[in-house]
Amino acid sequence: MSFRFAPADVFETRHNAPDPADQQQMLQTIGVESLEQLIAETVPAGIRLPEALQLPPAQSERRFLRSFKQLTGQNKVYKSYIGLGYHDTTLPPVIQRNILENPGWYTAYTPYQAEIAQGRLEALINYQTLIIDLTGLPIANASLLDEGTAAAEALHMLHAQTKKKPATKFFVSEQVLPQTIDVLRTRATPLGIELVVGDHRTADLADPALFGAMVQYPGADGEIFDYKEFIEQAHQNGLYVIMAADLLALTLLTSPGELGADVCVGSSQRFGVPMGFGGPHAGFFSTKDEFKRFLPGRIIGQSIDAAGNKAYRMALQTREQHIRREKATSNICTAQVLLSVLAGMFAVYHGPKGIRQFAVNTHLLAQQLEAGLKALGVPQLNESYFDTLALRLESHELQQALKAEAESAGINFRYYGENMVGISLSQNTEADDVQDILDLFAKVLGKEEQTPAAPEATADYAPKWPESLHRRSEYLTHPVFNTHHAEHELLRYMKQLENKDLSLAHSMIPLGSCTMKLNATAEMIPVTWPEIGQLHPFAPADQTLGYQELFRNLQAWLCQVTGFAAVSLQPNSGAQGEYAGLLAIRGYHEGRGEGHRTVALIPASAHGTNPASAVMAGMQVVVVKSTEDGNIDVEDLKTKAAQHADHLSCLMVTYPSTHGVYEETIKEICAVIHQHGGRVYMDGANMNAQVGLTSPASIGADVCHLNLHKTFCIPHGGGGPGVGPIGVVEDLIPYLPGHVVVPVEGRASGAVSAAPWGSASILPISYAYISMMGGDGLTRATELAILNANYIKARLDGHYPVLYAGANGRCAHEMILDCRQFKKAGVEVEDIAKRLMDYGFHAPTVSFPVAGTLMVEPTESESRAELDRFCDAMIAIRQEIAAVEDGRADQKNNVLKHAPHTAAVVLTEAWDRPYTREQAVYPLPYVRDAKFWPSVSRIDSAYGDRNLICSCTPLEEYADEPEQLVATDKGPSY
Ligand SMILES: *Cc1c(COP(=O)(O)O)cnc(C)c1O
Repeated sequence: MSFRFAPADVFETRHNAPDPADQQQMLQTIGVESLEQLIAETVPAGIRLPEALQLPPAQSERRFLRSFKQLTGQNKVYKSYIGLGYHDTTLPPVIQRNILENPGWYTAYTPYQAEIAQGRLEALINYQTLIIDLTGLPIANASLLDEGTAAAEALHMLHAQTKKKPATKFFVSEQVLPQTIDVLRTRATPLGIELVVGDHRTADLADPALFGAMVQYPGADGEIFDYKEFIEQAHQNGLYVIMAADLLALTLLTSPGELGADVCVGSSQRFGVPMGFGGPHAGFFSTKDEFKRFLPGRIIGQSIDAAGNKAYRMALQTREQHIRREKATSNICTAQVLLSVLAGMFAVYHGPKGIRQFAVNTHLLAQQLEAGLKALGVPQLNESYFDTLALRLESHELQQALKAEAESAGINFRYYGENMVGISLSQNTEADDVQDILDLFAKVLGKEEQTPAAPEATADYAPKWPESLHRRSEYLTHPVFNTHHAEHELLRYMKQLENKDLSLAHSMIPLGSCTMKLNATAEMIPVTWPEIGQLHPFAPADQTLGYQELFRNLQAWLCQVTGFAAVSLQPNSGAQGEYAGLLAIRGYHEGRGEGHRTVALIPASAHGTNPASAVMAGMQVVVVKSTEDGNIDVEDLKTKAAQHADHLSCLMVTYPSTHGVYEETIKEICAVIHQHGGRVYMDGANMNAQVGLTSPASIGADVCHLNLHKTFCIPHGGGGPGVGPIGVVEDLIPYLPGHVVVPVEGRASGAVSAAPWGSASILPISYAYISMMGGDGLTRATELAILNANYIKARLDGHYPVLYAGANGRCAHEMILDCRQFKKAGVEVEDIAKRLMDYGFHAPTVSFPVAGTLMVEPTESESRAELDRFCDAMIAIRQEIAAVEDGRADQKNNVLKHAPHTAAVVLTEAWDRPYTREQAVYPLPYVRDAKFWPSVSRIDSAYGDRNLICSCTPLEEYADEPEQLVATDKGPSY
């Protein structure tokens, strides 16, 4: 017997699933000798990188977690009273472990396949109900990216809806959060809207160019204004009004709806979501009924299923950009589903009374603090306040002395102006904390302190705001918010919802373009560490050294992977990255005195967010044709580039193409654009086919976004969060996003997200992935993604035609299965998608980029066994289709049309279908071992679109609206 020493716990083999023996067999099935040969036949030689990626050597999971603990140990977790939209909060441990740390929730996809997503759809309906109730407006969406972008979306929506002409000015109160104003300004400029920032009490609302106004409730410094009259006046002048509001304060304050606001926006962060150094958090958006067809983002609505039962699904708006393209007013795709689920569940657990008590306690401690400071002679300037005191010290020196003393005690306040100090209390503040703050002030002022009496449980206290703003309307009266208050009750409720949803914990989710790869547990673990979660985004830099090192390394690694000179981590979704990248291009042209360059060429096959982002960046979209075989029509591109040469801003191109092919002509395409003075924007959603083999910069792109929630392992969270960093070439660096509160040197551009580093607290996931894979592992991931895709292609050969392939008949990391020929037999692509549920699979991407097709992307993280199960299911479904085609099965009454089958349907006494119950629910042997039961039958989407109900409402309360929306519901779903 002899032994050899070798690494025993290699992460790469956990992530890259096919083992060497399987790889060999798969290569045989494909008909190639080796992986090298397959890659050589797939990726054009002309775009291959000459060198291997230069990244640190791969670490094991154990080593990574140990070293990362050290890195994050440089972050200092201080008590934060900074406020400005970010507050301490406590995520109940039962929610943390069973949702935030649970792959059953975080690995799910956006709920396009509603029948296997009823759990998170219900959780999102709860969230929408929470927002509707607290804001007092009748309709809300299921989240936006953050408070700043929610405000920008509102601005855009109202601008599109106003009847005022010229509608070129928008008033913003100076009490709106500074980062929100920054994001608004970035958004307003390309649309030709001027922001007028000032005091709402003296604003000239009669200015004919104004079309809207925005105020903050309570204001950034903490003052609570009664905006009722302001809103009335604004309305009299034909203006729309946006109110940004604090959700916790709204439990005690008259709601924005009752004050007359047209739109209410804000952040639901303080409902249990850690500050996370800026994100991710769910931005909220609610509005009046008249805007319900124009709401940005995703709205969850009620509908009915084939059996007439209540069922949830995303309403039609969901597909807005994909259908309306350059006429869309919002580019929101990935949003903040997981964070909305957390906030909604926080409300379910605490109920209206519990949440109100948090607010009451916060307010009473603020009163106690004010009294104590008054006794110390510190004036407090807010006449009305909820949780935030505005304190004036005698001098700048005192302010700075307080800062030094506070920081040495591990406390952060907000310091502003010459001598102002802001203190925002939170759900987590206790009487001891008030004492500590008073001690600090006493010490700095050199005074004896008299402790004011802490609020007593037996005494009644009056709120510090006017009678007119005492909230009298009820909220959260629905049973869901009044039932699950015992931990067992909540635990079981959450589990019940989880069990209705198919996630990566069940089976592969082969979504083309969306790259549903492994979200390894070791990658996820740091996300809930306090050193990551409990930092305020505006904490002083010397407390955030761990984060800074993380950003620096991650940026350097992403530069290495993309070939770019710099990376901005600020955009918090892919679409937001597109927008930021296009703004960089816009800034570049303007910087050269060529601000007239505003034409964006976009191929017909582009993702819907591309044209929507281009319009947001103030560009005109010119569509470039595709050839018969799905490639960009180079002749048409040349013609259009020449035709628009004087005004050409950029080309937006996806690579490999959305058709799953490495176009050989890509370098030529980039060169043509450059020749005509344009820049190349690359949509990096398909980066999983590039890493280590080629790169955006080497191909000729100038900017590219990466979806870290696709290629770099951040889980989809059921539809968010995401991170969409952009990489740029040298001369675009000055135009990367900046930030008004945390400026970046040399960057004059405004912010695209509320927080300086966007969704900072989930960056450790991608950091971990790169650290544990190393350059070789990442490159192998790309190769195996290509292997897996080509294996599926080979196995389905003869069953489904594959649309488009490269020169050697190979696909890239994904492929399009053409299902249009089944229409003759009455079988739609949707029937296949729904039937896959009976086999325990989530459908591939439906009808993108070509209607009537399925786009399959297996990723490198699926083993051969799983790929085989999927192929077996697809082949079995093909046989079911054949039965309809040749008349053995009825065209309407068949196993495909009735899919998916619930337990209730197959357990009915009178089974009268022309197929057996076994065929319905156990169509292949493997299904028996791990049956996933859809909880509802096929959902009637059109019904739900006619009757848009987006809060918890019993079905009986439906009233069929006379207004009939043209709900074709034939848009893509991905
Ligand atoms: C996913 C995707 C996007 C949008 O990214 P989000 O993060 O969802 O905003 C853009 N383009 C393509 C091709 C995509 O697949």
